[in-house]
Amino acid sequence: MIKPNMHYANLKDSYLFYNIAQKVNAYLTEHPDTHLLRMGIGDVSLPLCSSVITALHGAVDDQSAADRFHGYMPECGAPFLRETIAAHYGRRGVEITPEEVFVSSGASDELGDILDLFDRSSSALVIEPAYPAYVDANVMAGRRIVHLPSGRENGFLPEPSPKAHADLLYICSPNNPTGAVFSREQLKRWVDFANMNRSVILFDAAYEAFIEEDGLPHSIFEIDGARTCAIEICSLSKTAGFTGTRLGYTVIPKELVRHGMCFNDMWVRNRTTKTNGVSYIIQRGGAAVFTPEGQRQIMENIRYYKENARTLTKVLDRLGIWYCGGRNAPYIWLRCPDGTDSWSFFDRLLNEIQVVGTPGEGFGACGEGYFRFSTFGNSADTAEAAERLFSLLKKG
Ligand code: PLP
Repeated sequence: MIKPNMHYANLKDSYLFYNIAQKVNAYLTEHPDTHLLRMGIGDVSLPLCSSVITALHGAVDDQSAADRFHGYMPECGAPFLRETIAAHYGRRGVEITPEEVFVSSGASDELGDILDLFDRSSSALVIEPAYPAYVDANVMAGRRIVHLPSGRENGFLPEPSPKAHADLLYICSPNNPTGAVFSREQLKRWVDFANMNRSVILFDAAYEAFIEEDGLPHSIFEIDGARTCAIEICSLSKTAGFTGTRLGYTVIPKELVRHGMCFNDMWVRNRTTKTNGVSYIIQRGGAAVFTPEGQRQIMENIRYYKENARTLTKVLDRLGIWYCGGRNAPYIWLRCPDGTDSWSFFDRLLNEIQVVGTPGEGFGACGEGYFRFSTFGNSADTAEAAERLFSLLKKG
């Protein structure tokens, strides 16, 4: 009899967002006419910007003409998009070559698939609270996971230490769920730590476009020494509203070598075996994001979400509730009031004011007692949610 991958039996019962959906569905079955204010899952609400839409239409037309039609795309990405992305890094002072850029259909796919490059006996460090896929993808592969908790005392930005020793180091900055961003100096210490231990950093930069404070690094490759120890995984999902359109990119420097094996070469081999590339149409849409007009338009959308963040943080300030995030990230991470645990706070908001957020406990044990609001909703719902939150939690 065939033996399944028994590591799946070690996965926690259900995925955070699945649990939330179940609770929400149960509520809606009982109260079918309710308009829920959804600030839980991090999906965007604004449509694609017009530069992207024009490029997508143009690419559809290309597919209708024999002389412009594209069949299978190069597995590692269309040269026009790899060059565009490399040039985008160049404008920020980071030199990478188009051959170091791999086009993907999103960060989630990539965060799972990239694990093919590492031996299953390797260990993985997850700085918690963390995006749940890091843990689950490694549990599925049977890897040992080193959990590194973080908290208010270190601004949710822990330093490397012997406790953080592992082969793979996940770093997400700006962080989901806390919104915390590593400074250049802090990232440099992680880069030095990885190089010293011959580990590899998997740097999740899905939210880099939300950084507004000067001087904070958008890419790990802004840090000296990162080319010998890091892979950067990026996504247009939140940057440009591609959650349903699907496009991302991964940067693997040529200098990233362990045991004589070059990870860039290995990933070329992997991609040419396991994919047939991302759709031509979508890659054309993605390239439009990096034009000056595309950049202007996506920043306008990001400003809209930042305004949502301000609406919520103003209310949290008035309520005297501790929070972080919202400034350089689309998430606000708050302390549940009155010592409530995070799932009880979730239930209270759902049942009493019909607001859906995300319980911090779902991002790791140290997230207990915290709660995440996403700022990706529409502004009217966010304003309504903020008002309801104030009415519910104001004292006296
Ligand atoms: N990484 C982080 C930290 C995320 O929060 C998300 C999505 O929410 C992803 C990766 C996945 O992004 P994508 O839509 O590109 O798969």
